[in-house]
Amino acid sequence: MALVFYSHSDEGGLFEKRFRAAIAEQLPDLEVRTWPEIGDASEVIYAALWLPPEGLFKALPNLTHIFALSAGVDRLLQARDLPSEVPIYRLEEGGMAAPMSQYVHYGVLHAQRQMGLYKEAQQRQQWKRDAAEPAAGDWEVGILGAGVLASAVAETLTVAGYPVRTWSRSRKQQAGVTSFAGWDELPAFCENLNTLVCLLPLTSDTDSIMNAELFNRLPKGTSLINVARGEHCVDEDLLTALDSGQISSALLDVFRQEPLPSDHPFWLHERIMMTPHIAAPTAGGIAAKQIAKGVADAAAGLQPAGFVDRKTGY
Ligand code: NAP
Repeated sequence: MALVFYSHSDEGGLFEKRFRAAIAEQLPDLEVRTWPEIGDASEVIYAALWLPPEGLFKALPNLTHIFALSAGVDRLLQARDLPSEVPIYRLEEGGMAAPMSQYVHYGVLHAQRQMGLYKEAQQRQQWKRDAAEPAAGDWEVGILGAGVLASAVAETLTVAGYPVRTWSRSRKQQAGVTSFAGWDELPAFCENLNTLVCLLPLTSDTDSIMNAELFNRLPKGTSLINVARGEHCVDEDLLTALDSGQISSALLDVFRQEPLPSDHPFWLHERIMMTPHIAAPTAGGIAAKQIAKGVADAAAGLQPAGFVDRKTGY
């Protein structure tokens, strides 16, 4: 019995080391093999993966469980040789809730406290105060998504005094948070927003959801934070909305192509702040332990957490 490990971006092999240690602790008899050194492929029944290369699944005919090293499984589900019957489990929370909450809180603070305007004034060497700076209690934050990470972000923001609403497929109950559900309620969700945050999974339903139509539903001057996937946002529509002032500023952590090509207009845009997909990394020990626990559950005949419904795509 063996597990194949592959991560497309495990700099220094740190995550693999942590994962191997977690497996050694929880399942000492399970052999971990790093792709492409798979040994006898017939012995491999588990795979733990981030952005697997083409051909990996074809080489592993006896897989019984696939574990994603990430919260989002959009790329994994697109793998052409993905076996149709093998269940997939994603990372739920995995130590990401705290860094994601900090990141979004930072972005909301930046917009609410008008740091972009002060930065521009500084560049003009202008000592300019804004007496009308809005209070947190008057700054409406809307989160697309109400899942594991969005609900953690919503909690952080409500504790900080922001009115928060979420949008999801099913109605939610979360203290201090207003829940909107389904496409019919999206227009009402957009009303009076000051900051829009995207924390949806990328699926065929949510692809390109942040487009001109959505931007035009928002009050003029809404700020945007995208920490989900680059494909949620139509880049050209965002640039048009920024130029017209419909969107006042954007904090972007994710892009359609990563790394972002050097000639992309986002790089030098005055009102875009960018980070290289670091909002909530999964390299920590918590994620490694959690995935190892999923493998241990599978080995014990239990259902691991984080089952992915291939029909909904998340
Ligand atoms: P999750 O727990 O699966 O939550 C997904 C949420 O989106 C749920 O509330 C779900 O609604 C809602 N949703 C899905 N499809 C929808 C639709 N068609 N209409 C309305 N709502 C819809 O996911 P998560 O763990 O919070 O992660 C969210 C995403 O964050 C991941 O998929 C990943 O892309 C991204 N992420 C980014 C980073 C980063 O570093 N930038 C790190 C981690 C994750 P229901 O609750 O009704 O099902």
